[in-house]
Amino acid sequence: MARIVICEFMDERAVARLAAAHEVLYDPQLVGDAARLRAEAATADVLVVRNLTQVRGELLAALTRCKVVGRLGVGLDNIDVPACEARGIKVIPATGANALSVAEYVIASTMLLLRGAFASSAAVAAGQWPRAALGNGRETAGQVLGIIGFGSIGQTTARLARGLGMQVIAYDAMLAPDAPVFAQAGVCYAALDELIAGADAVTLHVPLVDSTRGLFNAERIARMKKGAVLVNTSRGHIVDLAAVAAALRDGRLGGAAIDVFDVEPLPATVSLQDCPNLVLTPHISGVSTQSNERVSFMVAEKVLESLS
Ligand code: NAD
Repeated sequence: MARIVICEFMDERAVARLAAAHEVLYDPQLVGDAARLRAEAATADVLVVRNLTQVRGELLAALTRCKVVGRLGVGLDNIDVPACEARGIKVIPATGANALSVAEYVIASTMLLLRGAFASSAAVAAGQWPRAALGNGRETAGQVLGIIGFGSIGQTTARLARGLGMQVIAYDAMLAPDAPVFAQAGVCYAALDELIAGADAVTLHVPLVDSTRGLFNAERIARMKKGAVLVNTSRGHIVDLAAVAAALRDGRLGGAAIDVFDVEPLPATVSLQDCPNLVLTPHISGVSTQSNERVSFMVAEKVLESLS
């Protein structure tokens, strides 16, 4: 029987599945207590984390017995994977399990930002009638969606966007322009600069690695089509948030939805209050009732397999 420590939230039925065969400590608050987490990690054969736990440095050093780190999600930037592998620890992500949740978030926010008509509740309830001001929104069908990073989430987003009649172009640094996946998805490959200049909406689906850090900087944001909208569900540090805010304020950018930040929670000192058509969410695009179930069960099954 192995000892499994789960230090962030997981679907409780998936926790029960693990507990039926192993000793389980399930404490979703444990991530917030570094000293206690290190103490529990010392006797763990398996550690299960989401995206808050930094599996590196002192925590990694404490994992003396650990053979498996389960990641309830897909981005691995909070885990020092090479250092884990060097210590014989296998890292298990929930590949693909939250792609649909993220893709639906991208489509919903793209439609909302392009139409620009959904922030009027307070005004209408107060007896105002801003009909003229809100009558210039754009339909989604026929607009060009530019997808940067054409992996699991990028491809799922393309499928939904095509269903709405959008024209989809995509770029992926690891895929050749003639890679079959583009044609199979009904998508046209575009070089990065071409995509940025040609898309009415741009969405990013790349991991945070050295080559993507600062990828969407002020210079690239300035080269977007005037009035285009931007969605970032990938990671903070990939998009320059200050440059997004400046482009929204001066009207070059038509709207933005940002789910991920350089520092999470976003410090209250970052001034975004006066940005028009800006949607901010607390890193939830990949988390829905259904995706939490899929992610949790996928990791539970893979952990059980690796212990058998
Ligand atoms: P994936 O591995 O299936 O796809 C990532 C794609 O990015 C790959 O095709 C890869 O070739 C490409 N890529 C790598 N470097 C690139 C570069 N420099 N330029 C362009 N493309 C590049 O991963 P995925 O499941 O699609 O997830 C993508 C990212 O989304 C994750 O790494 C994670 O950071 C983020 N994510 C966020 C949430 C959330 O809740 N906000 C949820 C899930 C995933």
